Amino acid sequence: SYIRVNIRELVISARRVAQGKYDQPIKIHAQDELEQLASAMDEMRLKLKAREDELTHISQTDGLTGLKNRKFFDEALTLRLASSSRNETAISLVMMDIDHFKEINDQHGHQAGDICLSLTAKLFRSIFKRKTDVVARYGGEEFVAILDGLSLEDSLEQTERLRSLIEQQQMSHHDNSIAITASFGLAWLRPGDAASANDLLELADIMLYQAKNGGGNLI
Ligand code: GH3
Ligand code: MG
Ligand code: MG
Repeated sequence: SYIRVNIRELVISARRVAQGKYDQPIKIHAQDELEQLASAMDEMRLKLKAREDELTHISQTDGLTGLKNRKFFDEALTLRLASSSRNETAISLVMMDIDHFKEINDQHGHQAGDICLSLTAKLFRSIFKRKTDVVARYGGEEFVAILDGLSLEDSLEQTERLRSLIEQQQMSHHDNSIAITASFGLAWLRPGDAASANDLLELADIMLYQAKNGGGNLI
């Protein structure tokens, strides 16, 4: 009966782990080989969880900048829109594109371009830094942020702070000083209004291209 009870406990634990439920320790009341089995299974639980967490992180992260990647962003935007519609809160979508970035690569090399991207990503994160802000690398030299519950004025003010921060930053590479600017498109969803992810993305994109057409370094 003692063996049967413990084995049943271990079977239940193994099934829990198989379902991806890693939180509960695997433990039985025994001191013999069954206890060794339980302890080995518990080690397996912790290592599986650590590897799964790492794979999840890798699948959501942009390798160069450490920001979230496009796939994570697309899913997050759909989720955020659903919750903003439920709670009648505002959503701001900020889309940023570095100006004349190809010239930086051409003049200073791809490596300098990469450093520029990483530094710009840091500035982006330093402005949109609330826990609820989603910041991601949308593509090559394009970045996006989803901001919850901010007024249009506050969203504009934060974006303006970022624009000015990027403009002021001087990056040095092989004794060259590299300056960059970026252009921004901002789409804002009024609390209680409805829009799809595509609506917001399209609007932010149109606004971004207006900023580019106006000469860049604009919101
Ligand atoms: P615009 O002012 O109109 O935005 O011009 P642009 O040169 O910034 O835009 P364009 O789309 O012509 O060029 C973007 C460049 O970004 C081309 C591409 O080689 C470069 N790029 C994309 N991803 C990376 C990357 O990971 N590292 C580096 N170094 N360059 C990249
Ligand atoms: Mg671009
Ligand atoms: Mg560009």
